[in-house]
Amino acid sequence: GRRPGVTVDSSKAKTSLEALKISLRQLRWKEFPFGRRLPCDIYWHGVSFHDNNIFSGQVNKFPGMMETVRKITLSRAMRTMQDLFPLEYNFYPRSWILPEELPLFVAEVRVMKDSDPSWKPTFIVKPDGGCQGDGIYLIKDPSDIRLTGSIQSRPAVVQEYICKPLLVDKLKFDIRLYVLLKSLEPLEIYIAKDGLSRFCTEPYQEPTLKNLHQVFMHLTNYSLNIHSENFIHSDSVNTGSKRTFSSILCRLSSRGADVKKLWSDIISLVIKTIIALTPELKVYYQSDIPSGKPGPTCFQILGFDILLMKNLKPMLLEVNANPSMRIEHEQELSPGVFENVPSPVDEEVKVAVIRDTLRLVDPQKKKRKDAQESPVHLYPIYFPDIFIQFHNLPDVCMKDKQHKHHSLKLSLKLKFYLKPGSCPRLEHVPESSELLLDAVPAERPEPDAPRSPEAGLPSLCLKQVFPKYAKQFNYLRIVDRVAALFIRFLGVKGTTKLGPTGFRTFVRNCKLSNSNFSMAAVDILYIDITRRWNSMGIDHKEPGMCLQAFVEAFFCLAQKKYKSLPLHEQVLSLIEFCECHLAALDEKRLVWGWG
Ligand code: ADP
Repeated sequence: GRRPGVTVDSSKAKTSLEALKISLRQLRWKEFPFGRRLPCDIYWHGVSFHDNNIFSGQVNKFPGMMETVRKITLSRAMRTMQDLFPLEYNFYPRSWILPEELPLFVAEVRVMKDSDPSWKPTFIVKPDGGCQGDGIYLIKDPSDIRLTGSIQSRPAVVQEYICKPLLVDKLKFDIRLYVLLKSLEPLEIYIAKDGLSRFCTEPYQEPTLKNLHQVFMHLTNYSLNIHSENFIHSDSVNTGSKRTFSSILCRLSSRGADVKKLWSDIISLVIKTIIALTPELKVYYQSDIPSGKPGPTCFQILGFDILLMKNLKPMLLEVNANPSMRIEHEQELSPGVFENVPSPVDEEVKVAVIRDTLRLVDPQKKKRKDAQESPVHLYPIYFPDIFIQFHNLPDVCMKDKQHKHHSLKLSLKLKFYLKPGSCPRLEHVPESSELLLDAVPAERPEPDAPRSPEAGLPSLCLKQVFPKYAKQFNYLRIVDRVAALFIRFLGVKGTTKLGPTGFRTFVRNCKLSNSNFSMAAVDILYIDITRRWNSMGIDHKEPGMCLQAFVEAFFCLAQKKYKSLPLHEQVLSLIEFCECHLAALDEKRLVWGWG
C-alpha cells in the first residue's frame, strides 16, 4: 500500500518556515507546524540544535556550530590551519583577535610596513558575534582611535581588507553559497550549484581616508544596502542588487574567464574550511550526543560568504551557521508603510537548497539503501570448497606467578582459499530471513505503488564534494586526530574541557614525559596554557582546558620532541607516536580484560 510520508516538525523553523513549507509540499511530506507528541523523522530548527529536546530522528543543526563559526573562533581555527599549511590556507585574510592580540597586530603591521614602504594597507574591524555588517568599520592604521576605544568593551577580529575585489557594473559584490554538512563522521559535504550575489549600491573605489566610512561602497551586506536609495529590487535573477551567482558566472564566462577553475577553487575553499571546523564540532558533538546513548543525528546548511578578488581568487569572509532562508523582503509601499513581498531570486535558490537537503537526508531513502546494501547478512552462505588454514595459534590459557588463570581473547586471522572453479552457493534461507527480504524494494515498481514523490522534481541542486574529493584533502585532517586524542581523555561524558588529571593521563599513557620533561613540567604547561585561554573570556562556564588550548599544548610538545621538522610534520609525528602507544595500551587492556 501507500508508504507513510516522512514527518517533519516545523514548529521551531522561524524565518525559514515559508521556504520549508514550499519544500515539504513539493516533496509531499507531512508537516507538523505545532510539533507532535510522537517523535518526528526530522526536526527543522531556526536557530540551534538546542531549540527542542530531541532524542531521535534528525535535526538540521549541529551542537556547537554557532560557537564554532563565530568570527573569533573561526579566525583561530583558520590560524591553526595556516600555521600548519600556510599555502593551502591562503584564502582567508590575515586576521588578529582583539583585544588580546592588539600588541601583536601593531607590531606585525609595523614590521611589514618597514620592510615594504609602498604597502598601504586597510583593515576591517568586525565585532565578534556581530552579523549583517553590525559594528563593522575600516581603518588605515592600527593607531586608529576608534579601535583602541571600542575593543575593550567588545571583542573583535581585525582583518586585512581586500582592496581589489572583482567588480561587476563597477560595484563590489560578494557571494553567498549554501553548503550542506550532511554528516560529521564520516565527513560528507555538498555544495549548492547556485548561490546569491549581493551587491553594493555605490560604485567601488579603493579605500582612502575620505571614503573609508562609506558602507554602501565597501560592505556588501543586504541588510545595509537595502536602505540605500540606489538599491534595486528585481524579479530577474541577473539584474538588481541581489542576483543569482550563476548569472555572474555566465557573465564572467562570456568575458572569457575560466569559470571551471573558479568553481574548483571554491570547492577547495569550502572543503578546507570545513576541515578546519570539524575538530571543534566533534568535541561539541560527543558532549551533547555521547556515543552509545540515544540521540538524533545532525546535518546543517551553512552560508559561506566569499569575495572574489580581481584575479578571480575566492577569499573566505565568514561562515554563517544560520544563513537567512527568508524568501520575501520588506518593501516600503508609501512612506512608513511596509509590506512583505515575495522575492523570486531568493525563492529560486533557497527553496531548492532546503528541498534537496531534505531529499538527501530522507530517512526512508536511507532505510531502503541500507536494506539494499545489507541483504548479504540475511543469507547464511555455504562454501563447500573452502580450506581453512590456521597460522601459529598462541596458547589460550596462561597462569601467572600466583597461579591465577588468565584467559586470552584471541583474534584469529583466517585465510580462505577457494578451489579453482568452485562457487559459493546460497543454502537454505530460513523463514525469518524471507520476511526481511521483503524490505528490499523490488527493482520494478509494484503495480499499485504510488508514484515516487521525487518524480517530477528537478535534479538535485546539491553536489557532493566530500568524500568525492577526499583523496586530495585527507592529508589536511590532522587536527581531527588531535581532537580524537583530546576527546579520549575528556573522561566524563558531557564535557568539552579537559581537567588536569585528564591531561596528565594523556601525557602518561602516550609516554610523553621523560627526564627532560617531568610531570611537574606537564602540570605547569597545563596551568599556563589553560589560564591564558580562560582569561581570553570566550567560555568561562566550564573550567578546564578547551580543545584549542589542548591543540596549542600539543603543538608545543611536538616542537619540543621533533625540533628540526616543519610544524605539520612535527605534529603528525607526535600524533603517530601517541596513537601508537594508545593502540598498544588498548591491545594490552583487551588481552587482559581490563575494560
Ligand atoms: P557580517 O557577519 O557582519 O556580515 P562579514 O564578515 O560578512 O560580517 O563582513 C561584512 C561585509 O564586509 C562583507 O559582506 C564584505 O562586503 C565586507 N568585508 C568583510 N571582510 C572583508 C575583507 N577582509 N575585505 C574586504 N571586504 C570585507
